Amino acid sequence: MNKKTKTIVWVVIAILIIALLGILFSQVIAPKYKEVSDTVFYEKVMNTEAYEKVEIQVDGYNVEATFKISGNKYEYYKATGQSKYDPLNPDIQDWRNLGSKKCEVFFADPNAGSVWSTVISFGGIVLVAIVFWLIMRSAAGGGKVMNVGKTKAHVQSNLKVRFSDVAGAEEEKEELQEVVEFLKTPKKFSDLGARIPRGVLLVGPPGTGKTLFAKAVAGEAGVPFFSVSGSDFVEMYVGVGAARVRDLFDMAKKNQPCIIFVDEIDAVGRRRGAGLGGGHDEREQTLNQILVQMDGFETNEGIIVMAATNRADILDPALLRPGRFDRQINVNLPDVKGREQILKVHARNKPIAPDVNFKTVARITAGFSGADLANLLNEAAILAARANKKLIGNIELYDGINKVLMGPQKKSRVVTESDKRCTAYHEAGHAVLACLCKHCDPVHEVSIIPRGRAAGYTMTRPETDDNDVSYNKLVDNICMSLGGRVAEELVIKDVTTGASADIQHVSALARRMVTQWGMSDKLGLVAYDSDQPVFMGMEYEYGGGTRNGYSQKTAADIDDEVRRLISSAHERAVKLLTENRSILDNMSRVLVEKETIYTEEVGMLMEGKTYLEVIEFMDQQDESRRANPFKTATNPTSDHLAE
Ligand code: ADP
Ligand code: MG
Ligand code: ZN
Repeated sequence: MNKKTKTIVWVVIAILIIALLGILFSQVIAPKYKEVSDTVFYEKVMNTEAYEKVEIQVDGYNVEATFKISGNKYEYYKATGQSKYDPLNPDIQDWRNLGSKKCEVFFADPNAGSVWSTVISFGGIVLVAIVFWLIMRSAAGGGKVMNVGKTKAHVQSNLKVRFSDVAGAEEEKEELQEVVEFLKTPKKFSDLGARIPRGVLLVGPPGTGKTLFAKAVAGEAGVPFFSVSGSDFVEMYVGVGAARVRDLFDMAKKNQPCIIFVDEIDAVGRRRGAGLGGGHDEREQTLNQILVQMDGFETNEGIIVMAATNRADILDPALLRPGRFDRQINVNLPDVKGREQILKVHARNKPIAPDVNFKTVARITAGFSGADLANLLNEAAILAARANKKLIGNIELYDGINKVLMGPQKKSRVVTESDKRCTAYHEAGHAVLACLCKHCDPVHEVSIIPRGRAAGYTMTRPETDDNDVSYNKLVDNICMSLGGRVAEELVIKDVTTGASADIQHVSALARRMVTQWGMSDKLGLVAYDSDQPVFMGMEYEYGGGTRNGYSQKTAADIDDEVRRLISSAHERAVKLLTENRSILDNMSRVLVEKETIYTEEVGMLMEGKTYLEVIEFMDQQDESRRANPFKTATNPTSDHLAE
């Protein structure tokens, strides 16, 4: 209960106590009527000499008389024989006849009780009603105890955020444009029998604008935006989270069309039953309730649930099933171009010195998220203000970069120019080999934008749905995976730790070729692997050989074969990359410049085009894309990643 209702309740209680005291007091001072028989009473009234005046009160069956003897002296009598004085009884006329100068008779309405008792009982009822009403009202309002199941959702109705406030994510915008259109004109879609997306999951690292995107969708569509955070649902008491979810959806249903946004959904949506020492009941109930609610809407109800997470891989698979979060949009760290655009968006309301070139700032902020860039401009503005400047200049921007880099969460993500060059060679090494090896899948995307713990990535994508994995394909895959390390050896003349994931991948693959798939002549068609279940993608390392049911000698042979497979692939990689050194050099220069390249540019480089030609081509593409932003679509889905 809040303070105000508390005081009101106290006031009411005080009034009740005072009223009660008043009633008691009036009882105490009330005169004591002496009961006498009718005859005596009658005689006393008739004996008019004995008093100055008498007032007779006939109230139903009670007949009371107050005799004023003289001055302040009073006597009180009450007649006990009642029937005779029944006001309905004709005899009552006797009393009426008593009326004289000295004697007044008052008749009360026989159907009403005493006026006072009526007032008191009526007042009591009113008071009780008021108290109840106050309690109910405080419960519905801000009361803590009764409010525990209410959602903590924030509702924003007229969001001013638009897609134009989200910079440099054209593909994501295009995908979300569809959602906007549905919210605007649901009928257009339902008339054609189109199944509308119910849930949209935004996946991406922190600060890449997931929340901003969700708001922009609501803003563009002009619908209310209900937002909650997954962590809001995690309360101490089991069942509270589920009640909140129900409440949230009920609220949303009353405000269709609208968007429900669940930020940090991983807080409740983590894979069920995977926790150590049993699941977390509360989380599970909350998650179940979300699933139930999402299944509960009619297909074309105007509610779209959006959720954000930076880890889609730990989410419960049930969340990703059709009819739930079946649409997934990856929001990645921005590339050079995107960073430039984000900087410009956030510079809109800041005075920037004319010599500032955001292209340059974008170049040296590899690995920065949108939030980092917004933060950087803010820091720069603060620095300029402190220096009493009217414009934000280059010095402030560079100092701002350092400030953001020094921030706690950024330390691990500092990307220097030489890191960038090294990563570019590493990724180019993968990509060039993927193109040269006949059995590798085509390269889809090469990037030196950090992703997770990897400094960059090369994505390949199979042309067919062919799932058979042949010996040649595996060998080529090993070769390509070694490409990163080999490029570092050849060019940098030093190796980095960046290849550790590649090395793990290659070793695991080669070992399985030998021990599971019978692909080594020396060891033959024998499975050497135990049938140990593999937990959550983690493979166990066994110390001795006996555990797997084969001898130390065989274990050594396996190791030899694995090593042989890998070293022959390594030799091949060195040979291929040495022969194609100019392609490698050109590709890495394009990567340093542009950070991400796609199939087309990779193809041009493989044909022997120089980095200058490719960069020029990409600039032209950017121009035409700017003229027609929604031309290039399709958010790539990764099929195979080499880091
Ligand atoms: P997330 O939810 O992904 O962690 P937010 O949406 O909260 O990130 O982004 C935080 C801030 O970063 C935003 O308020 C915005 O100022 C800035 N920001 C992030 N991405 C962009 C972008 N693409 N364009 C413009 N600003 C961005
Ligand atoms: Mg967020
Ligand atoms: Zn690699």
